[in-house]
Amino acid sequence: MTTRTLTLTDALYGYLHSVGWRESDNLVTLREMTAQRSDANMQIAPEQGQFMALLVQLLGARRIIEIGVFTGYSTLSMAEVLPEDGYILACDVNPESTGIARRYWQAAGVDGKINLQLAPALETLNNVLTDGEAGTFDMVFIDADKSSYDDYYECCLKLLRPGGLVILDNMLWSGRVADEGGDADTDALKVMNRKIHQDERVDMVLLPLADGVTLARKR
Ligand code: SAM
Ligand code: CA
Repeated sequence: MTTRTLTLTDALYGYLHSVGWRESDNLVTLREMTAQRSDANMQIAPEQGQFMALLVQLLGARRIIEIGVFTGYSTLSMAEVLPEDGYILACDVNPESTGIARRYWQAAGVDGKINLQLAPALETLNNVLTDGEAGTFDMVFIDADKSSYDDYYECCLKLLRPGGLVILDNMLWSGRVADEGGDADTDALKVMNRKIHQDERVDMVLLPLADGVTLARKR
C-alpha cells in the first residue's frame, strides 16, 4: 500500500488494461487504426477516455465542448454515453484527421450528436459566446495548442454553467513541467498549472492520469 500514486510498470499497466475499464468495439477499432499513424501519441489514453465518459454520466452532461479532435477518439468516448439529444461542439483545424473522425462517428451512430467546426477554436468559441450561449455548457475538454490554453480556459469558464467542468489535458507534459526552464509549450502549461491552482473561481485537482489531467469545476 502507498499514500502516493504508484509507478506503473508494464506488467501493472497490462493488468490495469485487462480489468480497469471497458472500451467499446468502435473505440478499439478507432484506437488501433490511429495507432498506425506517426502522430498516434496525440490521442488520449483509453483509460482517460473511459474516465471522461464516466464524468459525462456523473455530471448528467448534455452539452459539451471539445477543443482538439484529431481522429476523434476522445469525442467518441464522450458521445457514446451522451443521451440521444446530447450535443458536442467539436473544434479542430485539420480536415484530414477529422475526416477520419467523422467516418468513425458515423460507423458508431453518434455523428448526429457532434457538430464539428473546422476553424481556429478561439474563433468558434467567440462566435458561440456572441450567439448568447454563455452559461449553457456542462463540460469542456481542452486538448489543442498549448499556447492557447489560457484563452480557451477563460472563454470556456464563461460558456460553462455553475457546477460545469473544464478538463485540461497534458498538464504534466511527460514530466517536463517539473523541470527548470523549458520551451514555450512547457512554459504555457506551467503558467496554467499555477493559475488554476490559485483560481478561486473553480474547485480543482490535477490527476496523474495518462499525461496529467486537470479537472476544474466552475463554482
Ligand atoms: N483529443 C484528441 C484525441 O484524444 O484523439 C487529440 C487532440 S490532438 C492532441 C490536438 C488537436 O488540436 C489536433 O488535431 C490539431 O489539429 C488541433 N488544433 C491545433 N491548433 C488548433 C486550433 N488553434 N484550433 C482548433 N484545433 C487546433
Ligand atoms: Ca492530449
